[in-house]
Amino acid sequence: MYKTNSRPTRSTSTNSRPKRAFSSDSSSESRSPRRSFSRPTGNGSFSRSPRSASFGGFSRGGSSRRQFSSSGSRGGNGGGRRGGRQLSTFDVSKYINLNPVAAKTEVYETKHKFSDFKLEKNLTEAIAAAGLETPSPIQDQVIPLILEGNDVIGLAQTGTGKTAAFLIPTIQKTLKQRGYLTLILTPTRELAIQIEQELKKLTPKMGIYSTVCVGGMNIMPQIRGLRRRNHFIIGTPGRVQDLIDRGHIKPGAITHVILDEADRMLDMGFIHDIKQILKDIPDERETLFFSATMSKSIEGLVHDFLRNPITISVRKADITNSITQDVVRYEHHSKFETLVSLLKEPAFERVIIFGAMKHSVEKLSQELIHAGVTADAIHGNKSHGQRQRALKRFKDGQIKVLVATDVAARGIHIDDVSHVINYDLPSTYEDYVHRIGRTGRGSKRGQALTFVPNK
Ligand code: AMP
Repeated sequence: MYKTNSRPTRSTSTNSRPKRAFSSDSSSESRSPRRSFSRPTGNGSFSRSPRSASFGGFSRGGSSRRQFSSSGSRGGNGGGRRGGRQLSTFDVSKYINLNPVAAKTEVYETKHKFSDFKLEKNLTEAIAAAGLETPSPIQDQVIPLILEGNDVIGLAQTGTGKTAAFLIPTIQKTLKQRGYLTLILTPTRELAIQIEQELKKLTPKMGIYSTVCVGGMNIMPQIRGLRRRNHFIIGTPGRVQDLIDRGHIKPGAITHVILDEADRMLDMGFIHDIKQILKDIPDERETLFFSATMSKSIEGLVHDFLRNPITISVRKADITNSITQDVVRYEHHSKFETLVSLLKEPAFERVIIFGAMKHSVEKLSQELIHAGVTADAIHGNKSHGQRQRALKRFKDGQIKVLVATDVAARGIHIDDVSHVINYDLPSTYEDYVHRIGRTGRGSKRGQALTFVPNK
């Protein structure tokens, strides 16, 4: 634990720099309820180390258990309903994993090279140019299935390479069959924009076109984009539904549907829009479904809208295991000072701080700036342009700290985040996992610190 009565000090560190490996655990996988079979996979995600592993997880009781109310700690970005397990009680041990070591972790053995997938030459070259050398576990398993035309359920979080896992085979098919139209639904506009960026990276000069259709932005450029020829439409469910209603998106033309971060979309109350959209798309479509978690309502969606799906699970006990996690005890009167002294440590190079509410996130960012820490904030009260600028400054290294609400930070890809700090507690354990997944991405190391008050 970080000591907080004076200057915080780190109790321990696991910073040996182990070599990169894909790791896996033997975590369970979901079975689709309908005519499906799932492939049990030793699976995994990028992990920096063969030494990743058993996260102290859901232990009950114990001396470190404390009671917390989770009320008022929602990542309030005007977001809709929230699902997931509420942190009505708070078990400190779940936030500590100082020695991520390989207990039941196996190293995933990649079975393919990208060249094995017999992709178009220009796509293979683009993959190499994007710096992807070996398929990640989700890519290794999912790409062949999608190329064969299967509906697929990918249980994978950000950081596993899931975006390229669904983009690469879909691009390949589109290069072969130019009439294909793929609709990608995402929970947030940021994620939609990032998927389009990845798409562009993988399709230079290929004549593959896309339009991003997301809420909170002027609809006119989107309508103009839809009037042109598109191979990919990437959007948030509400706006996509709106554009279908206005006749600018023709569901009948859609051949492939990808639901990315389906659990988050449901958390945000998009279930009705998603159902409505899927209902109007021809049954012959192929449907790919990516989610970090499975719940009853997700199973319902899968049951209703996927055909003989094959489930591939790269759940990431492994990913949280690639992140050193600790708590920081603080006194109420000096919480902010505790944070500032942490941020002044040299190791805190690029830090995302999570706050509970839009206004508290904004306030914290201002206070940090006054305290001499370069910072900016992203939350629902900021315009899209302001958020993008803040993200860019953070990515470019102009500021050290990005303060964010859960919703604003969802799905963002930022490399080399050295630390995630939970200044306010997350509402659910799933939120916690999503938050800390901003660090330790790809093959990088990560550290997560959660602020916990002294009694
Ligand atoms: P995602 O799971 O899509 O959020 O991807 C997480 C990060 O992994 C992104 O920054 C990708 O550029 C990176 N990535 C994706 N596929 C690979 C791969 N095969 N090898 C190395 N990095 C990858």
